[in-house]
Amino acid sequence: MSEAQSYDVVVVGSGAAGAMAALRSADNGLSVLLIEKAHKFGGTSATSGGVMWIPNHGLNQEGDSREQVLDYLAAVTSGPVNPERLHAYVDEAPKMLRYLKSTGVEVMAAAWPDYFPDKPGARADRSVIAPTFDGRRLGDDRYYLMREQYNRFKLFHRYTMDLTETFSLMMQHKGWRGTAAKMITRYWTDFSTRRLSGRDRRFTQGAALMGAVFKQVFDRGIELRLETGLEELAVDASGTVTGVTVSSHGRRYDIQARHGVILAAGGFEWNQQLRDRFYPVPGMTRHSSTPEDANRGEALIAAEKIGASTEHTEEGWWIPTMTLPMPNASNFHEIHQAAFDVGRPWSVCVNRNGVRFVDEATGYDSFGQAMVRDHLATGTNMPCWLIFDAKFRRKFSAGGLMPTVHTPDRKIPADWWDHYVWRADTVEALAAKINVPVAALARTVANMNGYAKTGVDPEFGRGGNIYDRFFGDPTVTPNPNLGPIDTAPYYAVPINNGDLGTKGGIRADARARVLDGEGKPIPNLYAAGNCSGNPFGNVYPGAGGTIGPAMTFGYVAANDIAERTGNARAAE
Ligand SMILES: Cc1cc2nc3c(=O)[nH]c(=O)nc-3n(C[C@H](O)[C@H](O)[C@H](O)COP(=O)(O)OP(=O)(O)OC[C@H]3O[C@@H](n4cnc5c(N)ncnc54)[C@H](O)[C@@H]3O)c2cc1C
Repeated sequence: MSEAQSYDVVVVGSGAAGAMAALRSADNGLSVLLIEKAHKFGGTSATSGGVMWIPNHGLNQEGDSREQVLDYLAAVTSGPVNPERLHAYVDEAPKMLRYLKSTGVEVMAAAWPDYFPDKPGARADRSVIAPTFDGRRLGDDRYYLMREQYNRFKLFHRYTMDLTETFSLMMQHKGWRGTAAKMITRYWTDFSTRRLSGRDRRFTQGAALMGAVFKQVFDRGIELRLETGLEELAVDASGTVTGVTVSSHGRRYDIQARHGVILAAGGFEWNQQLRDRFYPVPGMTRHSSTPEDANRGEALIAAEKIGASTEHTEEGWWIPTMTLPMPNASNFHEIHQAAFDVGRPWSVCVNRNGVRFVDEATGYDSFGQAMVRDHLATGTNMPCWLIFDAKFRRKFSAGGLMPTVHTPDRKIPADWWDHYVWRADTVEALAAKINVPVAALARTVANMNGYAKTGVDPEFGRGGNIYDRFFGDPTVTPNPNLGPIDTAPYYAVPINNGDLGTKGGIRADARARVLDGEGKPIPNLYAAGNCSGNPFGNVYPGAGGTIGPAMTFGYVAANDIAERTGNARAAE
């Protein structure tokens, strides 16, 4: 084995978990190789909103505390959760953030209500984001090699938007046209970049976070090998992991990891067999909103082969998605997240019996859990329907269907009608068209119209808490999430149970060490991010609840290796 194929640490996967694990390992004085299966780096993390849930983060935040976070987590988690791992998250996440800042990555607090705002200990200031990042700081040969942001985070799939711009355009806030004009002008007047590439150099959201982290990775000379996928883990006679077997362009070869392998290869959302094995209800790979060429569970399969156990694998990080009819397009263009569309006024969600099953404005993961529960009970969910009227249509998007100001009905492509969107002049005619019991849908809509008048949804409490109202329409009273569905024409769009990745995976402990079937650590093997089980069990506690833990346990894994091998740990 040549020297070039031997490192102290091999990190598998270049998303948030892997990039942090590699960065921290290098700062701890260890030699690191970062391998990435895809031809682009950054993983789902680079395509994402880039929000991290870091309770008690201390950035202009007053009053949050370890105790308050633990109260909140105790109130929202149910089922088996490893308390030591949960505590490790609460203690290590703020340290990870301080370290991230110390490397030169800028971060700032973002207002966002926790997803269970009525539970004890909930707050609205635990999310952290990275400001816009100039992608060309990565170097002109690298900036287009990082994965691009998810489509809906770019205006017309081209002009990148930060979170404020996204919300302004999404809600047509005062001045939204000026905001859009500024973004377009800025893009076209960036002459030097236009000569180089069509990609907007202004990285925002997940691309901003990952761009800033990769700047640090590259500045330290950490080796990143693209198109190099993990195939197997090597183990010696004592059961200690000694390296990896990878494949690249048809060639298989071994790489030695002297002190540890950190698996950060994302979840298994693009592996239908693993979905079928783990999920209680059918869930399709094609409904996922993550990049389709990435996360197929190879790390989980390789770890299981050497005795690793798994946990919390029954669920994805759910999010309602809608699928545009776009032949020959990748899922990135077809799939539209509808997390915030489904709780807007002048609409309701029903199963195929025409019956509601959830507070539609709740957090997207809870929405998906309700879809699964309802499907298990009635067999008529997944897909379910978003029903709305002309007022909703004028102002809001329904997945890929933009509001009439951008896409009036006459501009809707012919093949979308009765495939993506259905329309009728009455609720009854719409129900007949989409094959939902007419009387049931009419009753549901009549009930919703009554709730819109009183402002109270006695069935599911829609609009009854700060999280729901955050994505409501403040111009609608008395309840910003409820408006009468009474203006023709009426529309329906089917909703699938999509995901942002998978929630469970390889079982790891508080130090991110992979555990075998007896709960004992497999020496030298670590897992972080969606590759590993969610520290919160089946719960998504707040905005950033997947990237926060991914980065934290990447950091924890790197520190454990440094401590175990007597390497000086970098300052926090
Ligand atoms: C549109 C969108 C918005 C989102 N917004 C947020 C948000 O704001 N906040 C939040 O917390 N979560 C968000 N999520 C979810 C979040 O992006 C993911 O949960 C998170 O990025 C997972 O990080 P990770 O490092 O575990 O995996 P990833 O970022 O997916 O990285 C895994 C990497 O491993 C690579 N890989 C896979 N298999 C192999 C192999 N065999 N060998 C080598 N490499 C391999 C993959 O190609 C990939 O690059 C969002 C998701 C989407 C799709």
